[in-house]
Amino acid sequence: MTLESVSDHVGVAGKRGATLNVVLMGPPGAGKGTQAGTVAELVGIAHVASGDLFREAVKLGTDFGKLAQSYMDRGELVPDDLTVGMVMARLQAADCRNGFVLDGFPRTVNQARALDDNLRRESRKIDKVIDLDVPEEALLARLSGRWLCKVCHTSYHTMFSPPTQEGVCDRCGGELYQRIDDKEETARHRLSVYFDATGPVLDYYRHAGILSEVRGDLPVAEVMDALRRRIVGAEHDL
Ligand code: ADP
Ligand code: AMP
Repeated sequence: MTLESVSDHVGVAGKRGATLNVVLMGPPGAGKGTQAGTVAELVGIAHVASGDLFREAVKLGTDFGKLAQSYMDRGELVPDDLTVGMVMARLQAADCRNGFVLDGFPRTVNQARALDDNLRRESRKIDKVIDLDVPEEALLARLSGRWLCKVCHTSYHTMFSPPTQEGVCDRCGGELYQRIDDKEETARHRLSVYFDATGPVLDYYRHAGILSEVRGDLPVAEVMDALRRRIVGAEHDL
């Protein structure tokens, strides 16, 4: 199936008023940001990345941003009540009306339960959860070589996915930067936090019967193909 025919298919469903709410799971460096933006664009739904929302708040210098930063800099999770409030507010925006791809949220079972409860109250639900599976040893190499666009958040890698011009975003021309929390020691800690706190979230969704896995250790285009197949499959059920 070509990208265009997938897009047409989903577009038709969108016009029927169908929605598609997806959670993209996976450890730091799994490729969630790399894939979620394109998937969301293709399907015509919003990409909601909790890490990007926190980084925007940090940039604004609000009290909320300062508090979030104190956790982020240490590679710790921001407390559930702050995180859930921020993400649920974002999901009220007009661009989430046809659906969303969540990236980086939920990261605890409490967050997953709160998400379900809040969506249920609005007669919405999570349709599909996809776990990007990448061997642990590949993740640190991905994080240490990661560069991100300051403007549109597109992810690059010095070796695996370099920008055409060093330091400049191919997509929007924005300046690229490296995240402080991608430094090896903090990145290692973030991975251990993921396996401890977020591992159980996978069990939560497995138990709900909506979890599937996609290999994330293949080239970006192949991972995208696999994700598209899963998402269009979910779309047929609408
Ligand atoms: P996440 O959002 O899950 O933390 P990113 O999407 O930012 O991860 O990807 C982490 C790093 O790995 C980035 O530098 C990105 O360019 C690179 N990357 C993403 N997907 C792949 C892939 N399939 N193969 C090789 N490198 C990848
Ligand atoms: P990310 O961009 O997803 O790697 O997230 C960067 C940092 O933001 C994390 O290390 C946490 O400090 C914080 N963060 C992002 N999402 C969440 C979440 N769902 N729960 C708690 N903290 C989060």
